[in-house]
Amino acid sequence: MTSYEAVIGLETHIQLNTTTKIFCSCKADSWFDPPNTNICPVCTGLPGVLPVLNRAVVEKGVLLAAAMHSEIRPVSFFDRKNYFYPDLPKGYQISQYDMSLGKGGYMDLPMPQSGGVRHITITKLHLEEDAGKTKNEHGRRMIDFNRCGVPLVEMVTGPDLRTADEAAQYLIRLRQLLRWLGISEADMEKGHLRCDANVSIRPVGATYLNTKTEIKNVNSIDAVREAILKEIDRQTREVDAGNRIEAWTLEWDEDRGVLKKMRSKETEADYRYFREPDLLPLRLDDAWKGQILSGLPELPLERRARFMSEFGLPEYDADILTAERRLSEYFEAAVKAYGGDPKRVSNWMMNDILRMVNDRGISVTELKLTPVYLAEIIKLVDSGTVNTSTGKALVQKVDETGKAPAEIVQAEGLAKVSDDSAIRAVCQEVMAESPKEVAAFKGGKETLMGWFVGQVMKKMRGKADPALARSIMEELLKQ
Ligand SMILES: [Zn+2]
Repeated sequence: MTSYEAVIGLETHIQLNTTTKIFCSCKADSWFDPPNTNICPVCTGLPGVLPVLNRAVVEKGVLLAAAMHSEIRPVSFFDRKNYFYPDLPKGYQISQYDMSLGKGGYMDLPMPQSGGVRHITITKLHLEEDAGKTKNEHGRRMIDFNRCGVPLVEMVTGPDLRTADEAAQYLIRLRQLLRWLGISEADMEKGHLRCDANVSIRPVGATYLNTKTEIKNVNSIDAVREAILKEIDRQTREVDAGNRIEAWTLEWDEDRGVLKKMRSKETEADYRYFREPDLLPLRLDDAWKGQILSGLPELPLERRARFMSEFGLPEYDADILTAERRLSEYFEAAVKAYGGDPKRVSNWMMNDILRMVNDRGISVTELKLTPVYLAEIIKLVDSGTVNTSTGKALVQKVDETGKAPAEIVQAEGLAKVSDDSAIRAVCQEVMAESPKEVAAFKGGKETLMGWFVGQVMKKMRGKADPALARSIMEELLKQ
């Protein structure tokens, strides 16, 4: 039996998080608003109105193009994409066709499981307006124009992805990048990031492309993965049975977890693109472009690589600590303040800080425990001023009070007790209070040692040097 590989390309629509729409001053994000409340003559295409391009849309688009290593055209054009559909009152969508803002591009996608990097090319990157949406309600077809004119970037990959997992990874990295750049909320459930997948299969080793199908209406990364797996499976069965794959458009049915045939695909020529006569060419002079690009931060995958090379972090740590931009900045500030081994800071971040922010559902920037305070706590543990468990308690206390760690140690007397005689006195106290356990220990039940040390730590409110407590306890019990 022939074995096949999948050839997958993803078409994404990214909603830019501007305040207003792309060509008018209506509010862009209508997620919480009733239907048809954020509309005006421009975005509903009434006769005699003129679109005006929103600067912020261009700026966010340029940031994305630069981050995708796309060539940014100094002059680009808007075009009309003509089609008839009830959610498109103008009868055309303003988009960019052959002379779009971005040309080419790529993302080098790390695949931690296989240890490799996949070079994913970008074939299209352009600005456009969204259409409205229709839904069936009360036995009627209802139309909501709120989404008309919402700014989008459409970005399309080459047929470079080979598995459903790679497709999911690409979306995870894209979502991370969009949030990192602050240009989109990238929430798939709210339609800020939408994805269609083109899928075909071919014998392993072949270089040609077979007929593909397009999967639409998938609104989570898990659903994209699942829908692609199902479609690869279906195509494999069809081809094995001697049938041809037809260029269908398929719709993902989230509730039932199945693909449904929507229609046979239309071709690009149907849209009759031509230049939008109501808009001037978009000119990006060097000054404006330079000003936009000065706001481009170090990108997540670059920072991830640097955390490994510069700080010697394992890939696992680097991945988690760069999942979100603010988290990576917090970590780096703490490393700087600490001055010692970054891996040590990473351990505290992953064990204590992340648990705290995840439990409370907040961002690290909302913590009262600043990176400098975290570094101080680690130093207090390093120097032996407090033991590790006190250090962990300090993380909580500093964050509750916003006070400096050293101040809390001083005020609450938390410094580790390494004074032999003080610990010895408590050990004797514990023995005096627990004659039964002492007898059992002396009778051979040496596993009780942990319990004795625990009692000492409890009486000393966790401040005793645990190693010292253990050795003194041992010495006394074995007398
Ligand atoms: Zn409007």
